[in-house]
Amino acid sequence: MTLDSASAALFDAVVRRNPAEAEFHQAVFEVLEAIQPAVRRDPSLRDAALLERVCEPERQALFRVVWTDDAGRAHVNRGFRVGFSSALGPYKGGLRFHRDVTLGTVKFLAFEQIFKNALTGLGLGAGKGGSDFDPAGRSDAEVMRFCQSFMTELHRHLGPYTDVPAGDIGVGAREIGYLFGQYKRLTNRFDAGTLTGKPTLLGGSPARPEATGYGTVYFLDAVLGAAGTGLDGLTAAVSGSGNVAFHAIAKLRELGARPVTCSDSTGSVHDPAGIDLDVLHEVKNVRRARLTAYAERVPSAQYVAGETPWEVPCDVALPCATQNELDEQAALALTKNGVLAVAEGANMPCTPAAVRVFREAGIALAPGKAANAGGVATSAFEMQQNAARERWSFAETDRRLKETMTAIHTACLTTADDHDVPGDYVAGAAIAGFRTVAEAMSGLGLV
Ligand code: NDP
Repeated sequence: MTLDSASAALFDAVVRRNPAEAEFHQAVFEVLEAIQPAVRRDPSLRDAALLERVCEPERQALFRVVWTDDAGRAHVNRGFRVGFSSALGPYKGGLRFHRDVTLGTVKFLAFEQIFKNALTGLGLGAGKGGSDFDPAGRSDAEVMRFCQSFMTELHRHLGPYTDVPAGDIGVGAREIGYLFGQYKRLTNRFDAGTLTGKPTLLGGSPARPEATGYGTVYFLDAVLGAAGTGLDGLTAAVSGSGNVAFHAIAKLRELGARPVTCSDSTGSVHDPAGIDLDVLHEVKNVRRARLTAYAERVPSAQYVAGETPWEVPCDVALPCATQNELDEQAALALTKNGVLAVAEGANMPCTPAAVRVFREAGIALAPGKAANAGGVATSAFEMQQNAARERWSFAETDRRLKETMTAIHTACLTTADDHDVPGDYVAGAAIAGFRTVAEAMSGLGLV
């Protein structure tokens, strides 16, 4: 599919106005391309510069973060927070701490969040933030000092009705706890609904840590269900070994599939017996060690440095690590090995060339905007619980998560059908999300 001339001109303008932000350009192009069936059919979607507005962030904060390490040395990092769209609710989206984070990374993630959050139907705007701070190898005390310094600037931009961050790569319950502690101190309020993904004792929702991984598997199960099959007995290749990957592996096992891989930024593990969750938990979550330690502990496992999991024969693939981690060559290998469906636990993990390979081969591709929306949906549940001073049970939260993922799946499928691209989840997700946000923007007038 190509862009019509108006969309192509808009894309050129986005590239010109946001130089050297390749990931953001990629995310914008993918959405403009995926929504072509809708903008061709309904010219009113071009009215009032809706497309131009949706590609321009409402606000962007860029700030210096100074902190000291355990030896007393001072370090300088850069902090970011992009509020992309508040048409449907307060800005909502995670914080990423990783050495490669740039403004372009944060903008791509915040842009994706617009459509994802719209798909949840839970009244969420879109934002994202983070820093080029690298938490790897840092002590708890160093991470805490960094988080406190980061929040000292960020806090003025936040609030339960303004902007509500959560975690992402490098930001888990520990970091959210430190960030919330500093926010509470600076504002003199226990405003729990300002950050989600908190430890349970501080108002965190049950099932929030599990939600993104579980939700991705619920979505994948629905994709297979629509094709008349299910997860039971299937072999799964999963990448990553962080929050999303870990809980995706757990849910895959629970539903009868056999996840045989996981990975980190230096290599991947292949364990034909099925990934052992207890060992993975001990290695990654308790010791914060590298995956080589998993292979040392598990005789059936092999660790291959520098490799991704995509050459391993599998029925379903779940990229759950980072953007552009599954390229054309990997997509060809998966296709050759007969993969049935791919579900993106990570944001934009498949390169455009990989997406093309899957589409041409007729392999169901569940895009991150839809498949990993369970995380932000459960963050919305956390906000609801904080506002009502309630605590739901794990089972109740998980039930609502599953219901939300099923509803998103249905919305993607019916929207794709309505636009004559049946079974195209990439188009269905982008069009359904865009239509919702476009309608809200129209209702708000020119703001
Ligand atoms: P974590 O920090 O918990 O884990 C990230 C994992 O990805 C680690 O195993 C990490 O390995 C690996 N990784 C990071 N960079 C690379 C790379 N360049 N190549 C290969 N592997 C890499 O993050 P999450 O699990 O929370 O996030 C994973 C993905 O899911 C991201 O795309 C995120 O945006 C997305 N996501 C997360 C949500 C959430 O609720 N947490 C919600 C929706 C989407 P290493 O330890 O070596 O760095």
